[in-house]
Amino acid sequence: MTEVSVTKDAIPPGADDLVVLKNVNKHFGALHVLQDIDLTITRGEVVVVIGPSGSGKSTLCRAINRLETVESGDISIDGKPLPQEGKELARLRADVGMVFQSFNLFAHKTVLENVMLGQIKVRKTSKAEAETKARGLLDRVGVASQADKYPAQLSGGQQQRVAIARALAMDPKVMLFDEPTSALDPEMINEVLEVMQQLARDGMTMVVVTHEMGFARSAANRVVFMADGRIVEEAVPDQFFSNPRSDRAKDFLSKIL
Ligand code: ADP
Ligand code: MG
Repeated sequence: MTEVSVTKDAIPPGADDLVVLKNVNKHFGALHVLQDIDLTITRGEVVVVIGPSGSGKSTLCRAINRLETVESGDISIDGKPLPQEGKELARLRADVGMVFQSFNLFAHKTVLENVMLGQIKVRKTSKAEAETKARGLLDRVGVASQADKYPAQLSGGQQQRVAIARALAMDPKVMLFDEPTSALDPEMINEVLEVMQQLARDGMTMVVVTHEMGFARSAANRVVFMADGRIVEEAVPDQFFSNPRSDRAKDFLSKIL
């Protein structure tokens, strides 16, 4: 009998690191909006970013998909450094889904078309395949019956769920949410958070800027607290909320909880 030796490729260190920021810096004029940011997001991880207004949370999100350039430091997505521009950037950017506070749907396209467009234009999917996938995703976020309407005919919560479906249609490796419920009427916040909760349970890698502390407690693997352009503190939610270490975090929590 021959012995079969199974040699597995060694897993390179950090192979499960999906989004890596190393020593990232950015200014807006004199304002040092991102200061020495080091952040690694593992595949499947849900990271909630919180912090006072103006602390750099949105800029951080926008830097991760190069809606903002940075002056120094490295950002990579799934092992590939983010280039400054060009085709490779467009491809890598498509791996990063983004959902903004304002819903940003195409007003003159139907809900269904909104979810089909990127697939056809960027992923070069056939129309039929894009439609099937779009309908499936609209169903997944609970708005299948709205497919033929225009965004303005939907409630804010429905529009935001369409925005999530549209981002998911690109099969992103990571989803960024920048205060996705801040512009919603209170009664619509939960329907959006529930979709995000389900996405987290399904194993999506997520970076979520939010003031919804209930979501942070229940869905996050890690809370990142920012102030003045720096990551001041990182911890698992329980630890962060019950025992924040920094004065900045204590002060922030005392104001919002
Ligand atoms: P947050 O999302 O935490 O509220 P932002 O990342 O939006 O913070 O902004 C951080 C700081 O950078 C704020 O002081 C903001 O006014 C400033 N800022 C954001 N975008 C720009 C810009 N395009 N030009 C100049 N200043 C900006
Ligand atoms: Mg912001």
